Amino acid sequence: MLVRFWGTRGSIPVAMTSAEVKRKLVTALVRAAGRGLDTAGKARAFVEQELGFAVSHTFGGNSSCVQIEPGGDDYVLCDLGSGARVFGNAVLATRGPTGHRFHVFMSHLHWDHIMGFPFFMPAYLAGNHVRIYGCHDALEKAFRRQNAAPSFPVDFSRMNARIEFVRLEPDRDHDVAGLRVRTKKQRHGGDSYGYRIEKQGKVVVYSTDSEHKQDDAAEMKAFVEFFRDADLVIFDAQYSLAEAISVKEDWGHSSNVVGVEMCQLARARRLCLYHHEPIFDDERIAALLAETRRLEEITRGDHRVEVFAAYDGLEITL
Ligand SMILES: [Zn+2]
Ligand SMILES: [Zn+2]
Repeated sequence: MLVRFWGTRGSIPVAMTSAEVKRKLVTALVRAAGRGLDTAGKARAFVEQELGFAVSHTFGGNSSCVQIEPGGDDYVLCDLGSGARVFGNAVLATRGPTGHRFHVFMSHLHWDHIMGFPFFMPAYLAGNHVRIYGCHDALEKAFRRQNAAPSFPVDFSRMNARIEFVRLEPDRDHDVAGLRVRTKKQRHGGDSYGYRIEKQGKVVVYSTDSEHKQDDAAEMKAFVEFFRDADLVIFDAQYSLAEAISVKEDWGHSSNVVGVEMCQLARARRLCLYHHEPIFDDERIAALLAETRRLEEITRGDHRVEVFAAYDGLEITL
């Protein structure tokens, strides 16, 4: 099973500023001084191996959209944030305009998770099939409304693909496209739902926009079971622990510290920090990742959890 991230920023898409680009360039040029990088090959190797991720790359960008490739012809996505625009264009460019079937699991209907759909080109082309799954009553209404005047110039009725909305029951197992999918209600404004997706012994958990109360033992235990033995947990780590338990308590998001604790208890193999805070720049997210890896190391028992920070373009093979 392959997991590919198309949008990883929380709340709203964020572009790198020109000040950040300049800061990265200055750092790179100073570090490259005297290194004799006189060919593209040498320069590329230096960038890949020596510069460090926060200088040579960028985290985040588009809002939530993750692709799961379980094998087979159908496409499987979690959420339709602005990353879905890039994903849709990539499908059309590499596989042609029509004949595609998409299955999309929606965590919830907040704007940052649906805003890519009006720009999801395969939905405008007859001959494609889009099935959108979710647990909210307003699932279809939310998608139709954002394509309606006065908010958008092209009405939903002009999407020519076959588009179906499929209501899933919370806290139940479902069979979708050869996958076993369990839904779980999460603590978030207007509720959100996590998905535990399994195929042939491989398990990925998609759990974003979810706040965890560490003093609620029953709830923590239920989530640990939801994450149990997962190969990958994609986890809402928008805040630092200090923020999550003080000023931003009840804002509906979680922290890297809670993610490590829950994945250790669940004996999950990998934790991916996801839904990055929009005000965090690359240095801040890289520092958060380094702190999280250190925390995992010093609190580790006999089970290691590998920690990643999501970025647009990250691929993880399970
Ligand atoms: Zn969100
Ligand atoms: Zn939300």
